[in-house]
Amino acid sequence: MYLKKTIFTFLLSIILIFFASFAFSQAQSNIKKLLEDAEQVRKINPDQFLKILNEIKPQINKASSYEKCFYEYLILYKLGLKGDYGKTVEELTKLQGSCKFLDIELRVKTLMANLQLISGDFEPALVNLNQGIELIEAIDNEYLVGQVYYVASMGYRLMHQDELSLNYADLLINSNHSAESLCYGQFNKYRIYMRQGLGENYKSEIDESIVNCKNTGNLIFSLFLQFDWYRYSINIGESNSVLAMDAADELMKMKDDVESTGFKNIQVYYNALLSHILWLAGNKKDAEINAKNAINQNSSIGDSEQLLLALNVLTGINFENGNYQLSYDYLSQKTKVEKNLYESRLAKQVTFFQVKHNTLAQKLEIERLNQSNQFLQLEKKLAVETSKKQWYLVALVLTGLVLLGLWTYRIKRRHDYFRSVSEVDHLTKVFTRKAFEEQLAQLIKNSKERLKPINMAILDLDHFKEVNDKYGHLVGDWVLQNVILVCEEVIDQDTLIARLGGEEFAIVTPDISMQKTKALLEKMRLAIENLDCSPAGHNFNVTASFGVTSSLISGLEQAILLTHADVALFEAKNNGRNQVVEYKGG
Ligand code: GH3
Ligand code: MG
Ligand code: MG
Repeated sequence: MYLKKTIFTFLLSIILIFFASFAFSQAQSNIKKLLEDAEQVRKINPDQFLKILNEIKPQINKASSYEKCFYEYLILYKLGLKGDYGKTVEELTKLQGSCKFLDIELRVKTLMANLQLISGDFEPALVNLNQGIELIEAIDNEYLVGQVYYVASMGYRLMHQDELSLNYADLLINSNHSAESLCYGQFNKYRIYMRQGLGENYKSEIDESIVNCKNTGNLIFSLFLQFDWYRYSINIGESNSVLAMDAADELMKMKDDVESTGFKNIQVYYNALLSHILWLAGNKKDAEINAKNAINQNSSIGDSEQLLLALNVLTGINFENGNYQLSYDYLSQKTKVEKNLYESRLAKQVTFFQVKHNTLAQKLEIERLNQSNQFLQLEKKLAVETSKKQWYLVALVLTGLVLLGLWTYRIKRRHDYFRSVSEVDHLTKVFTRKAFEEQLAQLIKNSKERLKPINMAILDLDHFKEVNDKYGHLVGDWVLQNVILVCEEVIDQDTLIARLGGEEFAIVTPDISMQKTKALLEKMRLAIENLDCSPAGHNFNVTASFGVTSSLISGLEQAILLTHADVALFEAKNNGRNQVVEYKGG
């Protein structure tokens, strides 16, 4: 009897333990499922995301250490949503130290890179991104890998590394993982194509992505694509006021959508774009109001392409209305913003090369250390047994030294290479804007010391967009290269020539008179007009407009010299292009 009771109690406890552990494991896998659900909805449905986090909270002390890490990560994601990116990154760094699960590490690095990109900290963003990309191979989770591709594609787009960005976008598009990742890929891919002036070739794909992004709850992405398309169409189309009126009507219907995002950047973009289209439609009054709205809203964002668009409208409208002083003021602001944007773009590119370079240098360094380690070990072994084989040791030492020398040389060559790419424009082989500014500073200094004037000209190709649109980007590149070649035949070695950006070049002639400078520019103008473009595979001609000023009128301030040359250029364009116009003051 006693035995029976004992056996019964024993069996009962086993059954109880079994059920208890089953319930426990259920609770655990239930938490994991909730964590994954939260992660999936966090972008498109923030309310649902917060709800799931609240549901997990009371159960979290039952969770495994992996689940706790996952939960902490999501809590930090929530913190990031509030906008305090610096603090979030700081906490993520701590979490990274305490959670050693590969997929959590990947989540953390991707989120850090993303937040750093948004805050413009490109260097650490790239470092995290590179580390994330290296982790991918060890991860078997399509969703996570997609997240890395997304941040890579976004980051490289922002850093103007178009080719890399396009590669990652295509990985997202071809992964067939979800409609959402398709939207992320399309978003980056087609924004780049539109930025490169190639939107026309992808019209139906762009339309499809606008709808896809909207349907997957990514309204902001959908709006950006839509606005880029409008802006792109303005740039390529003839300014037809009826079409513009239709476009303005369509845009105005989107106002509620834009407001509902609560996102400043897209609101500024909307107003700037609407102002441009209203201007084209002939409604200058509303255009002006919208442009000013865009400028006001933009004040918390800093310089942006959208701001440029709005300033351009105000420059144009005031010029048309005969308010030359006001037009000039807006043009000066626009030039300043353009310059800042250009500089920040350059800085991003330099950062990109630096990080790439550091990673490479680090790898080379590690390889070099390994080599010298192996070499030292060998040396030890040999030393024991070889006084007779002394010559062998000597040969080995010499080989080792040569190898070390080679590694160092390779690292130095990389250094020089990365330095030169930021000074010389890769396409036309003239100075980049950054190098130009340094050279110009020197010329200005000389000019002050020797009391000699300098002349500053800007060359801008006429209707160059049409060349790209009609014959393709490669032909456009050919033209840029050959225009500079013929110009270089005309100038002497004292003339400074540099690419300011796009199809715009600066030409500085120190020590010579305005008359001689103008004669030189006239020679360039003729050489460009007579440039035989048939080797590029098509029969067409190109022309260029020039604006020029002298330090005798504009003084020796870089920014003012450039602005005055730009004002003269603006006039050359307005007078029918293909001509040299001198700035007369005003
Ligand atoms: P405008 O006479 O008023 O100057 O007209 P535009 O078409 O020359 O002026 P716009 O500034 O609208 O267009 C400049 C174009 O230059 C836009 C872009 O497609 C092209 N472009 C800029 N950089 C490059 C480049 O590196 N290669 C090629 N192929 N095209 C470029
Ligand atoms: Mg041009
Ligand atoms: Mg231009």
